[in-house]
Order: sequence, then structure tokens, then C-alpha cells
Amino acid sequence: MERGKGNPLARCPWCDHQLDGYAAMGGARGNNPIPREGDFSLCVKCGHVLAFRADQTVRKITDKEAKEFQRWWKEYKRERLREFNKAKRKKMS
Ligand SMILES: [Zn+2]
Repeated sequence: MERGKGNPLARCPWCDHQLDGYAAMGGARGNNPIPREGDFSLCVKCGHVLAFRADQTVRKITDKEAKEFQRWWKEYKRERLREFNKAKRKKMS
């Protein structure tokens, strides 16, 4: 499968929306945009967090993964905010 192409296999298990972009959320397990088994994704339609299987289909996440995701998401937001503030300071000086 080529990078950036839609993934006809990936259907949201919650709302049955076909996920046409399949880039994994960078940072959870490295910055490789091609998803590996266990990488997290988000359904653009219903907003549920999903995880990739080895065959690039997606599944609901487990309770354990939900906790892992929450930890990662917190860290991700903190990181983005830091970058945002840095850029803002640069602009103002
Ligand atoms: Zn969905």
C-alpha cells in the first residue's frame, strides 16, 4: 500500500465510516506515518480512537490501550503547546 492512499480495508468499527486517510498519529510509537500493528488512529467521523491491526484494518482499542492513549495525548498536547508558545515568543520579539 502506498503512503497517503486510502485504505479500503479500514472501516470504523463504531460507525462503519471508511477511513480514507490512514496515517497513524505520529508520536504514539514513533513518527512513521505508515501504521504498524497497535498504532492509534482516530475516526474522522465519530471521533473514536482506533488501533491498527497488522493487516491495516482497524479495531476498537482495549481499556489498557485507552489508558496508554490518554497518557500519550496529554504529552502530545503539552509538546504542541510548548512549540506554539515558542513560536509566539519569537514572533513578538
Ligand atoms: Zn467512526
